[in-house]
Amino acid sequence: MAYIGIDVGGTNLKAGLVDENGTILAVERVPLDFQGAESFAATLADLARKVMGQAQADYVGVGLPGAVDGGHVRFTTNIPMQDVPLETLFRRHLDLPLLLGNDADCAAVGEYFGGAGRGTQDFAVVTLGTGVGTGLILNGKLRCGDASSEGGHLTVVHGGELCNCGRRGCWERYASATALIQQTKAAMDAHPESLLHTLAAQQGGVEGRTAFDAAQAGDETALEVCRMYVEYLADGVVSLVNLLRPEAVAIGGGVAAAPEALLLEPLRRIVETESFACHGGRSTRILRAERGNDAGIIGAAFLGRVL
Ligand SMILES: [Zn+2]
Repeated sequence: MAYIGIDVGGTNLKAGLVDENGTILAVERVPLDFQGAESFAATLADLARKVMGQAQADYVGVGLPGAVDGGHVRFTTNIPMQDVPLETLFRRHLDLPLLLGNDADCAAVGEYFGGAGRGTQDFAVVTLGTGVGTGLILNGKLRCGDASSEGGHLTVVHGGELCNCGRRGCWERYASATALIQQTKAAMDAHPESLLHTLAAQQGGVEGRTAFDAAQAGDETALEVCRMYVEYLADGVVSLVNLLRPEAVAIGGGVAAAPEALLLEPLRRIVETESFACHGGRSTRILRAERGNDAGIIGAAFLGRVL
């Protein structure tokens, strides 16, 4: 049995043929050049056909940044699509069911079948990027559809920073890569002597990794930025753990590549002491997501097994 998943990113469409074990056997990619929903559906069908080759598939799975409802796109955040019957358009070109998923959900499904979540039944992925994405697998099923989880908008600071969603103090305003970059820049303004300035100049600007790189070199300002950032990250993770008591939470996105000693180790310590897991019962493992950008393709391909 082969599975086909397509990951709709900000700049590319990537399609993969995936086997039962979550191994990607073939990949096709094209730049995202959105010319309307009709041609977008044709491009998806084209990619699916190319990657499928001689293999047989029961459906095509697609992960999109936005909200979906069955084969219907409610809205997308990087492409102008709203209330589009994408499956209907797609089937004019390729007569297979089209399963749609939110991209953070697909990342969770990809890790569940092919990465950090293997062997669990209750599992969460927290993706640290422009925002904070959450994907939840509960009892082996994806918490999804038009009720996709939005853990990035848990309130961690009452009356705090204004979020794109219109509310204040959302977790993603403090724990996303975007927030980390802002925190790094604020620390640089206050500390002209910090190594952060040198590294930022070398890297062509402040990135998510700048603070972790400088912290690893022993820079006090950067160590403090990282310490605060991990505390914000932990605020939301502790809430997720207390609410869901999953077997594992995997941290993904670019920031997750930070050195273990500066990110995951302190995060684990805080979750252990601050979550109710410290009172006994099942404790939650805090892991690094394993499949990087591939999780989106694998998750889209396996959507049919978790919906
Ligand atoms: Zn928000």
